[in-house]
Parts: sequence; structure tokens; C-alpha cells
Amino acid sequence: MKRILITGGAGFIGSHLCKKLTEAGHYVICLDNLFTGSKKNIEPLLKNENFRFVEHDVTEEFCTDIDEIYNLACPASPPHYQYDPVKTIRTSVIGISNMLEIAKKSSAKILQASTSEVYGDPLVHPQKEEYWGNVNPIGIRSCYDEGKRCAETIMSDYHRQFGVNTRIVRIFNTYGPNMAVNDGRVVSNFIIQALKNEDITIYGDGSQTRSFCYVDDLVNGLIKLMESNYHKPVNIGNPSERTVLELASLIIELTNSKSEIVYKPLPSDDPIKRRPDITLAQKLLNWEPTVDIKDGLIKTIDYFKTKI
Ligand code: NAD
Ligand code: UDP
Repeated sequence: MKRILITGGAGFIGSHLCKKLTEAGHYVICLDNLFTGSKKNIEPLLKNENFRFVEHDVTEEFCTDIDEIYNLACPASPPHYQYDPVKTIRTSVIGISNMLEIAKKSSAKILQASTSEVYGDPLVHPQKEEYWGNVNPIGIRSCYDEGKRCAETIMSDYHRQFGVNTRIVRIFNTYGPNMAVNDGRVVSNFIIQALKNEDITIYGDGSQTRSFCYVDDLVNGLIKLMESNYHKPVNIGNPSERTVLELASLIIELTNSKSEIVYKPLPSDDPIKRRPDITLAQKLLNWEPTVDIKDGLIKTIDYFKTKI
């Protein structure tokens, strides 16, 4: 039984990770300030004696003796991370610094949830880990993108300078149950709009692409990476790429919705295309996604039916 700290554990991905690791027999401490996360996501775990919830902000110091840390604390949807951009970048940079100090003192392994956003609006397609990215340092997405890039830097320096046992995962667009109803990301927005027969809001002309990974696949990848001995960044995502317009059509079909598509302005710096090259994860971790988008969307639609 390991003692595992999961920051952002009451959020979408974090809640699935808390469940999986608690069920595997570990003692899990979930640390979250509940900014975008919710106690509802971890409610079934609260009565488990091997699970502890601590309401805490990662920008404040925290002390515990621990074997592994998964650092997921950070708002991930553009409307939420742009709501208080100064807080967002502080969460990434100060948050990971505080967690690395705990890892250093406890000789713990630490995994940082990084993002495909470190590639910005990529000029290389699909994105390999060696690509350094094309990121605007002063735009509306920069608080998130540059915060995550800086967190990767701090992780790499703690590894080189202090020998901390680090892992960096670059997560590509992930969806599934436990996304917040007000999350604002494309999958949850489209499903909620479709279920309510409201207009589906496409930003831009819908030709921009993303590659969507179901949360169970992602969580398996995170655990496999933690169990590996690899310190450099690894992409985890589903390489099956589609346009935002194709996603809207698929969700309308799966929900049997009467919604119409409407077009809204594209926010600035919105990446035109995104698809992970997962060759490294396949070779290193023997990992690849297994859930087809239709199956994953059906499970997500069923979840949102219970929420609205
Ligand atoms: P989420 O918003 O559902 O979860 C983030 C969690 O962090 C929430 O529970 C929130 O309350 C908590 N949090 C935020 N600021 C905090 C702070 N200062 N102190 C303590 N807790 C704080 O988002 P998610 O999709 O579950 O993302 C989890 C992690 O994965 C994030 O770090 C995100 O950047 C990364 N990621 C997610 C995706 C994706 O597609 N879901 C893609 C790339 C990276
Ligand atoms: N998007 C959209 N309508 C929405 C929400 C998002 O067309 O209601 C677009 C958004 O502009 C982007 C893509 O869908 O091109 C993915 O957006 P999301 O916020 O999910 O993630 P990210 O841009 O960070 O990949």
C-alpha cells in the first residue's frame, strides 16, 4: 500500500484517478481548493478509510510524508483558466514548486499533469515530444500554456539539481463523466446543448481539429507513466483526430437532438490543429487508447443526462 497525494483530485480527471488508486488498495490524499472541482465527484470515496479529502490551495505550503504525488491542480478549461489568469499561472508555478519540495523531502515520485498546450498553435503535425512548440507568451491562453511550460522547466531542474524522481505527462483533450456542467470545454458544451435541444455553438468555422481521449484510457496512461522510470515528457492522448464540426455532428446524431449549429467568433490563439504522436507511450509504456469515441461519448452523454 502506497501513500499517494493527488492535487486537483476533486476535478474531472483527478476524481477518476482517486477512485482507481483507492480501489487498487492505496491510501489516497486528495488535495483540492474546489475552484472547478466538486466534492460530488469524490462523494463515494469519502467514507473509505483509505481516502482523505483536504481542502487546500496548492499555492500555499503543505506538508506530508508521501510515496507518490500526482499534481493535477489547475483549472483546465479556457473560460475557467482565463477567469483569474494571475491565479492560474501562480497555481501552475507555485503549486508545482510546493509539491516538488514535498517530493524532495519525502523522496517521493512526482508526476506533473502537463498539456498539449505546451505546443501552442503547432507548426509540426502530429506533435512529437521533441517539438518545442509555437506559444504566444502574452496572449489570453498564455497564463495556462506558459504556466504549464514553466512547471515542466521546474520539474526538469529539480530532477537534474536534486535528483527528484519526476514524470511529465502531456495530456491531450480528454473527456468523460465528472466534467462539470459549467466546464465550458467543447465536449461538455456540445452534449449539454444537444440534450437541451439548444443551439450548438461552434467557435470559428469548425474546421479546427482536436483528438479526443476517453478518461479511463488517460488514467491508465498516467499510472503506467508513474510506474515507469522515464523523466522526460510523454504524450498521452488519442490520435484519432476530427474537426470540431464533425464532433458536433456526431453528438447531434448520438443524442438524437433537434439542435441547430450556430457559428460564434473564434477566440484568439485557438490552435488550428492538434493530434498527439503517441509512439513514445506505445514503446515505453506499452500504452495506447482502447475506447472508441462513440462508446466514450455515449457514456459521457449518459452521465450528463443525470446532471441536467
Ligand atoms: P478540472 O478543472 O476538472 O480539475 C482541476 C482541479 O484542480 C479542480 O478540482 C480544481 O478545483 C483544482 N484546483 C484548481 N486550482 C487549484 C489550486 N490552486 N489549489 C488546489 N486545487 C486547485 O480539470 P481536469 O480536466 O480534470 O484537469 C486536470 C489536470 O489535467 C489539470 O492540471 C489540467 O491542466 C490537465 N489537463 C487536462 C486536460 C483535459 O483535456 N482534461 C488536457 C491537458 C491537461
Ligand atoms: N469550441 C467550440 N464551441 C464550444 C467550446 C469550444 O467550438 O462551445 C472549440 C474551441 O474554440 C476549440 C475546440 O472547440 O477550437 C476545443 O476547445 P476546448 O475549450 O474544449 O479545448 P482546447 O481549445 O483547450 O483544446
